[in-house]
Amino acid sequence: MEKLKLFIDGEFVDSQADGIPVTDPATQEVLCEVPFATGDEMDRAVRGAQAAFEGWRETPVPERARVLFAYQGLLKRHQEDIARGLSRETGKIFEDAMGEVWRGIEVVEHACSVASLGMGETVENVARGIDTYSLVQPLGVCGGITPFNFPAMVPLWMYPIAVACGNAFILKPSEQDPMTPNRLMELLSEAGAPDGLVQVVHGGKDQVDAMLEHPGIRAVSFVGSVAVARYVYHKAAANDKRVQALAGAKNHLVILPDADKDQAIASLVGAVCGAAGQRCMAISAAVLVGEAAEWLPDIKAAMAAVRPGPWNDGEAGYGAQISRASRDRILSYIEKGKAEGARCVLDGSDCAVAGYPDGNWVGPTLFADVTPAMSIYTDEIFGPVLVTTPVETLGDAIDLINANPFGNGVSIFTSSGGAARRFQHEVQVGQVGINIPIPVPLPFFSFTGWKNSFFGDLHAYGKQAVRFYTETKTVTARWFDEEGERASANMTINLR
Ligand code: NAD
Repeated sequence: MEKLKLFIDGEFVDSQADGIPVTDPATQEVLCEVPFATGDEMDRAVRGAQAAFEGWRETPVPERARVLFAYQGLLKRHQEDIARGLSRETGKIFEDAMGEVWRGIEVVEHACSVASLGMGETVENVARGIDTYSLVQPLGVCGGITPFNFPAMVPLWMYPIAVACGNAFILKPSEQDPMTPNRLMELLSEAGAPDGLVQVVHGGKDQVDAMLEHPGIRAVSFVGSVAVARYVYHKAAANDKRVQALAGAKNHLVILPDADKDQAIASLVGAVCGAAGQRCMAISAAVLVGEAAEWLPDIKAAMAAVRPGPWNDGEAGYGAQISRASRDRILSYIEKGKAEGARCVLDGSDCAVAGYPDGNWVGPTLFADVTPAMSIYTDEIFGPVLVTTPVETLGDAIDLINANPFGNGVSIFTSSGGAARRFQHEVQVGQVGINIPIPVPLPFFSFTGWKNSFFGDLHAYGKQAVRFYTETKTVTARWFDEEGERASANMTINLR
């Protein structure tokens, strides 16, 4: 079995470490082995990135942007073949994979405007003859640790902006689908990125720890489950690193009885089942307000019409779950939900796909009468499972959502501007959709999860990411000319 290579100093290199198999989620066919890099390999990658940084930080900003322009073009040209490989290792249907790659390309496009994104500020005459201005400078070597569910998009949230700002980068992708990141590196080299600028070191927990402990890495961007996000956040801080850690979610969609019923239900079902429910912005809880609770049979019918299938099945609504362990975890939640007294209106636990007996399939699953105390409500299940709760008023819906510890995304479907305005103002969630089920912002905004869905200060991509990957230096300067008055060194006197 072929062992996947690490990408260090512009070359794909063999790792000395043992690996684990990477499997096709629809068939269990082993696609490759992913090595868990040794400590020496991690150290070599960081040292190589430090060397690349020295040259890259001096590279003029337009030249850096030009590499990203070229990269954007290559990613677009190869979008389909990247998506095909991505489908294979994640189990995603081709349409979802194409969408994922596209959302990553958009971040590269945005990173091309680094010259304006990274501008400093100037105030002339802070005192007589004295100016203050700020310079925005790169940090050095930054690191990224990414989850399985978006092996192209989430890495592309990180390193294009980091390198646009003048940094070098170490990427530790998910060990569950590590092949796509290697493909992204082939194209980055082709785009003209210098050797060592972005290094890919494969592995799992030990490699994450090695990154968090390595003194050569200045900042760490993490995306993954809440338990690991918390761990990474605290450990990075304890090792004096800047950190942003994006975590899990329980995203609600509120339906008011004045909503466009067909639109609301179609959007809800797409947001629950898309990408097999393995999206951090997937809707996993519906709050049915007043008479909208009577739409449950329509929601059930719409969910029952969606079926999973292999990546190249044009009729399938979504693909296989990433692993047997993920599938079994989802099935155990379905059993827990039943045991806790929720009504399982549609049960996807016994799901088969013709011709794919070994796939990690879970059918769409719908629970009614779910209470906030049940584990199927409190926990992120990360599968095509929807829990529904009826409430009497919009205020009740807002209270329910605000009491939930997660705060990644939320959505409301209504035809009332007043209700939507109140909702956007009062709801304590970082990304709000109004008649939009999955409000993931485009990259000129940032991805702004709240509460337990995010640990840190500065968010991923957009302007906040530019601040995350840079240091601000503030210069106060005066110049003497022969004729000018000699300025006093005492600024308070000059300010009078
Ligand atoms: P995960 O937390 O299991 O893994 C994420 C990364 O951490 C991987 O690279 C993995 O190798 C590493 N890791 C795993 N266990 C570790 C440990 N004990 N110590 C240190 N590192 C460890 O997450 P996942 O299952 O790959 O991804 C799904 C999760 O990611 C979901 O919870 C989802 O909501 C979340 N997610 C969040 C966002 C967001 O923007 N908030 C985006 C995508 C995914």
